[in-house]
Amino acid sequence: MTPDHIVVGAGSAGCAIATGLIEQHDATVLLLEAGPRDRDPRLRIPAAAADLWFGRHDWAYDTEPQPGFGGRQDTWPRGKVLGGSSSINAMMYVRGMDVDYDEWVEQGATGWDAATMTAAFRRIEDDERGPADHRGVGGPLRVEHQRDPSPLSEAFLDACEELGLPRVEDYHADPDGCGLTMVTQRDGRRWSAADAYLRPLLKAKDPRLLLRTDVEVVRVVVEDGRAIGVEALVDGRLRFAQAAESVIVAAGTVASPQLLMRSGIGPAAHLREHGIEVVVDLPGVGENLQDHVLSGIAAGTDGDSLYGADKDLGDLVRYLREHRGRLTSNLGEAIAFIRTHDDEPHPDIELIAFPSAMTDHARTRFPEHGVTLGAILLRPESRGRIRLASPDPQVPPVIEPRTFEDPGGHDLRRVVDGLRWCQRLATEPDALGDRITHLIDPPDVLTDEGELIAHVRRTAQTLYHPVGTCRIGTDDLAVVDPQLRVHGVGSLRVADASVMPTLIRGHTNAPAIAIGDRLARELLTAD
Ligand SMILES: Cc1cc2nc3c(=O)[nH]c(=O)nc-3n(C[C@H](O)[C@H](O)[C@H](O)COP(=O)(O)OP(=O)(O)OC[C@H]3O[C@@H](n4cnc5c(N)ncnc54)[C@H](O)[C@@H]3O)c2cc1C
Repeated sequence: MTPDHIVVGAGSAGCAIATGLIEQHDATVLLLEAGPRDRDPRLRIPAAAADLWFGRHDWAYDTEPQPGFGGRQDTWPRGKVLGGSSSINAMMYVRGMDVDYDEWVEQGATGWDAATMTAAFRRIEDDERGPADHRGVGGPLRVEHQRDPSPLSEAFLDACEELGLPRVEDYHADPDGCGLTMVTQRDGRRWSAADAYLRPLLKAKDPRLLLRTDVEVVRVVVEDGRAIGVEALVDGRLRFAQAAESVIVAAGTVASPQLLMRSGIGPAAHLREHGIEVVVDLPGVGENLQDHVLSGIAAGTDGDSLYGADKDLGDLVRYLREHRGRLTSNLGEAIAFIRTHDDEPHPDIELIAFPSAMTDHARTRFPEHGVTLGAILLRPESRGRIRLASPDPQVPPVIEPRTFEDPGGHDLRRVVDGLRWCQRLATEPDALGDRITHLIDPPDVLTDEGELIAHVRRTAQTLYHPVGTCRIGTDDLAVVDPQLRVHGVGSLRVADASVMPTLIRGHTNAPAIAIGDRLARELLTAD
């Protein structure tokens, strides 16, 4: 049977797209996912998230050496499993601010304004707190309070208040302040996009959903200017699948531009370098890469952290019996939005508290109770890019984040100011200061500007929110139009985090899902 649509990638957006097409249009959908089914029990246990990174459910890309990181390479986890990155992420539900979406419109993403996006968020949400003007109930995506946040996260919030940052009831309604993070969990278990969107159809064995996992799409096949299907690797063999109506690429910010380029859609000269026949010269494919960067401090505490939770039988039993306790932690338990300078029109740094002393994507976990406080740059001015290393789908792309390479040096300056805030929170207010026994990394409070910069360059890492490599717009460097149709190719769309014109001042799972939801419900019209 030829499906109406082929969706490439069963991640945050892809799951919403597939289900939306089926439920709203009674369409048949072939959903192709490179990773396996999400059967590993660790995918459900929130605090096990960091153990999934760099394992079999992760593409674990290496970036190029980064001058802004003193020449270090960073590693970028991206989900390679049903649910995509929503199956391995930190479950923080932070949608971004109204201004983010109004800024998208200013950049040519007509129809992606704050009011429209708020309506989409309300539709996708099932928020435990009940309905309000800006939040929804009854949608597929469960959003809950954390069940057992660490007292250290509460201490962090008290410390924020001592430093004049108000505690807000709902940071989506009132973004200037601090609060405990809302999480995409149901009853203390991870609630991925696959749980939200696919599970009901899979349980019902709905024949309109044809899900194939462990299938890696190699290229989109374009004939007479129109996408007619895809070629994919199935058990090591190249197979063709045809789509009656359209192909929708939802492979994420790294893989979507890579897939377009392998299909002959991208910067012509670059494609020719790799011997790829040019279908459409689209110079913006892979450009405009933006990501959130994090740098912070780790400190020892007198208790109450996640230290030992992974080996403690009591924690495991409590989790299995009641879905409570330390294993329900989503790691990023508390946040605060700040302005590093009074003249910033909007918050420019998010402070985050993890109840665990760690660095380097939690690959270094200090063997003691502790806390990590981080500063996340919300709206980077640096722009990176993604390019092909080879036309071979098995070869990862070249990722050049170019973090801290903005001409004005604003990005580094803001993170350094954010780091100063982390140090103040750890040392000045009694609320947290009384709990912290010693600083670990750095071992002393840094005051010298050069030392602060050196610390940032040594410790900075991705906060896992790359966007922008197939951005919406109508100018020459845009990749898709506001209906998410690829410029110059019929019946082909991209719908995932890659289409965001700029980063949001929040976390990117919610808008990625909303993009998928909007495509299926509102934007899919005949070519
Ligand atoms: C470690 C980590 C922590 C994060 N924490 C948070 C958080 O707490 N809160 C938050 O809001 N956001 C968080 N994010 C970001 C958020 O999860 C992502 O922005 C969002 O999931 C992106 O959705 P997407 O649909 O664009 O891509 P993805 O969800 O990554 O989906 C892309 C899918 O396409 C598949 N794919 C790729 N190439 C191919 C191919 N050739 N053929 C077939 N399939 C393919 C992939 O395997 C994947 O399943 C985190 C991300 C990571 C990695």
